[in-house]
Amino acid sequence: MAARATGMIPYDVAIVGSGVVGATLACLLAEAGCHVALVDGIARHPARDEPWDLRTFSLTPASRRILTAAGAWPRMDLARVAPYHGMQVWDAAGSGMIDFDAAANARSTLGYIAEQSNLLHGLFAALQTHSRVALITGVVETLLPAPDGVNLQLSGGRGLQARVIAACDGADSPLRELVGIELEVREYTQHAVVANVRTERPHGGIARQRFLADGPLAFLPLPDPQWCSVVWSTSEAHAAQAVAEDDASFRAELGDAFEHTLGAVVYTSRRLRFPLRWRHATRYSAERVVLAGDSAHLMHPLAGQGMNVGLLDAAVLAECIARAGRHALRHPRALFRRYERRRRTEVLMMLEATDRLCRLFAHPHPAIAWLRNTGLGLTNHMTLVKRLLMSHAMGDAGDLPDIARPARDAVPF
Ligand SMILES: Cc1cc2nc3c(=O)[nH]c(=O)nc-3n(C[C@H](O)[C@H](O)[C@H](O)COP(=O)(O)OP(=O)(O)OC[C@H]3O[C@@H](n4cnc5c(N)ncnc54)[C@H](O)[C@@H]3O)c2cc1C
Repeated sequence: MAARATGMIPYDVAIVGSGVVGATLACLLAEAGCHVALVDGIARHPARDEPWDLRTFSLTPASRRILTAAGAWPRMDLARVAPYHGMQVWDAAGSGMIDFDAAANARSTLGYIAEQSNLLHGLFAALQTHSRVALITGVVETLLPAPDGVNLQLSGGRGLQARVIAACDGADSPLRELVGIELEVREYTQHAVVANVRTERPHGGIARQRFLADGPLAFLPLPDPQWCSVVWSTSEAHAAQAVAEDDASFRAELGDAFEHTLGAVVYTSRRLRFPLRWRHATRYSAERVVLAGDSAHLMHPLAGQGMNVGLLDAAVLAECIARAGRHALRHPRALFRRYERRRRTEVLMMLEATDRLCRLFAHPHPAIAWLRNTGLGLTNHMTLVKRLLMSHAMGDAGDLPDIARPARDAVPF
């Protein structure tokens, strides 16, 4: 490791970005025998500063299997992870409603709500067990060609060498820019407001989403029976107001918008706001750089799939590298092509599905509202269609890497 740290011997893979996707990829590649440098501009990810982390994610069973294979899931505080067994979605502009129940698919859970801090804790604890992973703090500023590899120049004048780079550096990926990969872009006018709230009545382990004229409002169950993580997609002006207004006004407004489905909102955390964007990289690799996670694709959070898709990127990329062998990283073009072939269609399907849902539910025309309400009602009675939708939402369908296949679901929880 010392020779690698001084730049004399190249790492097999430099992963830039130690968010959930990058850290998962690091664990999986280390398991596959690769020497990995995990580089991030921040030395420590922010700790929780509220009773529950404001960044929480709905994870599919497939993601849980990937995180288990990475060694992270068993190292997380599982008392802070909420499995949910039901999901209800309804339209504010009508009576259309669809619900999903894990038991109808002979499963105990549809998914899990987990905090970002808990996920990163599990991942970094798993990374500590791998002597093949070096954690490096620094912002990547430039890339220079090296024999059978690439030189990463970091802030502060340091550098390191790697055969290839996995850019897991998020939606505004500086590495994607450095190698000139372009994006297909669609704009949303919505922003998402996130908060954690305590409600009068228990959530019962059900994830709920109500589609309003300005965007969907989701209440996702946290481990405490009366706490939910809220994601409210709404107009930019309304999001700015929701973040700035006093707690009592926000609680009252939120309760009304959710039709008091869980009674009154009796407590709210502070709020955070995120602009919502749709982005897809026109290619997933250039030269020796390959994209995974939000650097490759960015989707509306209404289906809670961005991170799940990113974890599948990490698992497929690790599988492609493991199957090809470390030596293949000297000339990675064929390997990167295989990775992109396996991911692009799957990712595009999810990008299109979330985009269409968002636009369909935002459509104000009464005829469209009638159609989508009728569609929701009809679909709710079609057992087979619902089962198909559910298996996609749970990450059980499509071209899955071995570690994400449902057969691995022997573990309870
Ligand atoms: C409101 C909202 C709700 C969401 N809910 C869900 C959900 O329920 N389920 C779900 O699956 N997804 C959800 N998502 C999507 C999810 O948040 C993202 O897909 C996921 O966080 C992306 O992770 P990542 O690791 O790719 O990127 P990031 O988490 O953005 O990590 C990127 C890392 O790269 C580092 N970095 C950047 N540039 C450099 C550089 N030059 N040098 C070194 N390091 C660098 C950063 O410091 C950072 O640590 C939601 C998104 C939003 C906005």
